[in-house]
Amino acid sequence: MELPHYPPLQRSDIVAWLRETSEARLEELWRRADLVRQQSVGGEVHLRGLIEISNHCIRLCGYCGLRVDHRELPRYRMTADEIMACVQEGVAFGYGSVVLQAGEDPRILADWMADVVRRIKADSPMAVTLSLGERDYDELALWRAAGADRYLLRFETSNRELFERIHPPHPGRVSDRIAILGTLRRLGYEVGSGVMIGIPGQSFDDLAGDLELFRALNLDMIGVGPFLMHPETPLADPQQQSVAAPGEQVPASELMTYKVIALARLLCPRANIPSTTALATLNKNSGRELGLVRGANIVMPNLTPPKYRVHYEIYPNKACIQESAGLCHQCMEVRIKSIGRTRGSGRGDSPNYVAR
Ligand code: SAM
Ligand code: SF4
Repeated sequence: MELPHYPPLQRSDIVAWLRETSEARLEELWRRADLVRQQSVGGEVHLRGLIEISNHCIRLCGYCGLRVDHRELPRYRMTADEIMACVQEGVAFGYGSVVLQAGEDPRILADWMADVVRRIKADSPMAVTLSLGERDYDELALWRAAGADRYLLRFETSNRELFERIHPPHPGRVSDRIAILGTLRRLGYEVGSGVMIGIPGQSFDDLAGDLELFRALNLDMIGVGPFLMHPETPLADPQQQSVAAPGEQVPASELMTYKVIALARLLCPRANIPSTTALATLNKNSGRELGLVRGANIVMPNLTPPKYRVHYEIYPNKACIQESAGLCHQCMEVRIKSIGRTRGSGRGDSPNYVAR
């Protein structure tokens, strides 16, 4: 099948799609994104096993329930053996990779993490993705040398002033996630980033800028999801909420999330793009499937033991919070089959990374 030729999307086209309300026009966007997805990354849906290894965090992100001053949240940090037990479950389910995610937790020591990466690489054929926040160059280099393949760090919003408002720097440090993404690229990682959709204060133009930045950064993986308000965070406080000018504020809606997934696919055809848990939280019945038929090609079943998973509460009412790893796995398989797609085999490296 030949890809029809579409002229490259400009900022004004992106804004127009983000504001589009005609169902018929949007059907055209979904069709295009699905076609480009099929042509660029194929019909397979890759499964990544997510292990939420620690919910300790030293940061004060205005949006996230793991922020350090959310004192009521019971905190946990998994042991290396507990992580390895989850990894073995992932192997048994045939996953091609695991994602180890955590708050920004300095007690995840660099050498300890490097050992865990080495153990996973020695005991399984899986690719290892890390998502541990803003870490120093030496740590990122050490983990890469230990065998880590990929790193995920969302820049959250390309509007620098908004980013600084919702993501205060840690005292004595500069928070420059774009610079860290450059470092990750130079270290040879497969690089992933993304944004939240509908952050209070995020305008349509900001979101179009985010999408353009995905293209400029030539990302290998792109994760986007709606902003979901956590009552114990500053962004839930009406006094502290600043919204964009009238008619400019992006809604944190399911529809807007599909638009961003579809546009990300058109702008970065060979990137791996997940249909995220935050999207599934807005539509538990069919959010995952709709993301997959509107540009996405990845799902991330949760391998975290349920006793910990309930405390990885970045926002309330998270999808899949009570399920065991086995149930999550079966559920994803059924959903993939229901849309006529197949499960990916192998590590599912980003074709963008492979081409580079
Ligand atoms: N601590 C690491 C970091 O910040 O990159 C990784 C874990 S953090 C929980 C992973 C992602 O969760 C963030 O990049 C952010 O986009 C998302 N997130 C946090 N709070 C959220 C919220 N209230 N609604 C939607 N997504 C949220
Ligand atoms: Fe910590 Fe990441 Fe949540 Fe920020 S988004 S508070 S760094 S876990």
